[in-house]
Amino acid sequence: MTKHSRPTPQPGIMDIELYEGGASKVEGVDNVVKLSSNENPLGPSEAAIKAYGRAGHDLHRYPNTDHRALRAAIGEIHGLDPDRIICGAGSDEIINLLCQAYAGPKDEVIYPEHGFSMYKISALAAGATPVAVRERERTVDVDEILADVSRKTRLVFIANPANPTSTMVGKKELARLARELPKHVVLVLDGAYAEYVETFDGGASLVERFPNVVMTRTFSKIYGLGGLRIGWGFAAKDIIDVLNRIRGPFNLSTTQLDVAEAAVRDQAHLERCRTENARLRAWLAEALAEHGVPSDTSCTNFVLARFQNESEAEAVDGHLKSNGIIVRRVGGYGLPHCLRITVGDEPSVRRVAHLIGEFKGANADG
Ligand SMILES: *Cc1c(COP(=O)(O)O)cnc(C)c1O
Repeated sequence: MTKHSRPTPQPGIMDIELYEGGASKVEGVDNVVKLSSNENPLGPSEAAIKAYGRAGHDLHRYPNTDHRALRAAIGEIHGLDPDRIICGAGSDEIINLLCQAYAGPKDEVIYPEHGFSMYKISALAAGATPVAVRERERTVDVDEILADVSRKTRLVFIANPANPTSTMVGKKELARLARELPKHVVLVLDGAYAEYVETFDGGASLVERFPNVVMTRTFSKIYGLGGLRIGWGFAAKDIIDVLNRIRGPFNLSTTQLDVAEAAVRDQAHLERCRTENARLRAWLAEALAEHGVPSDTSCTNFVLARFQNESEAEAVDGHLKSNGIIVRRVGGYGLPHCLRITVGDEPSVRRVAHLIGEFKGANADG
């Protein structure tokens, strides 16, 4: 006899709210422009697309389990030791593995209040207690994090630059966080948008200095491969060894491995994407400001537009939607008065700015 009359999930699991991806359809509107998932409007590199075609011929083969070729390519491009790299199905998988490996019941996992939702989901999935800490002006606050660290803390997650705020913690502050955290706490620096900041290494140099710091990266954003599901982590060898024990041996398909390798070797494509994103991002932020819509200086491929209140954000979202543009509501991230707008291609960026200006103009007197 068991004490339950039906199958019962592990504690924490029923507290998980299902992840909601950016919408891609509007009822009754054709040709929608999706600016809700921070996808790269230029798409993947031609080399990646070619590799995708070639991979079809080998689909009867199991993939290799050690990801050697991809890790070597990443190591070469970033100047990192491939033996300290782990690859996963998106950086989401790395985040999951970290929680599974280092946090359990009664342990705490810290993340900033507006932080990426996967941190909380993965913490709960591991049975751990998620702890959201305050930010200052939509920016990660190192002092708040340090103040909330307790003997129960096992992991601290921050995205730098962050989603959905688009802001960044400076180099000195980041180093201070790494230095002042207790040595038993794993600090995860999620670098999903690191490539958009030309001079930023995503935190790799901190990983080199501190054995408890992990950097995660993804192919979903600047590489334009969100549909492929590829990400990676860089950490001390013993952390990588721990994660590899719980990683599924065949977590990545041959297709994923080959395409990602081709993508990372095409740094010219990445440069083009970064330059184009920076240009259109500046234009969009400026245009919004002219319409009375402020945003923080973005270090990413999206702009977090701030409206007067939740109802204005909702009304603007409705106006955009009825005109075929989907952006992201971020009430679930504690930012109900904001809309997160991905920097799309030039026509869509112009269109979204125009529509918001139209809304603001029409509502200027009330
Ligand atoms: C998009 C994003 C990721 C990437 O997730 P993948 O699983 O690699 O697609 C990770 N962290 C943050 C903060 C993101 O915005």
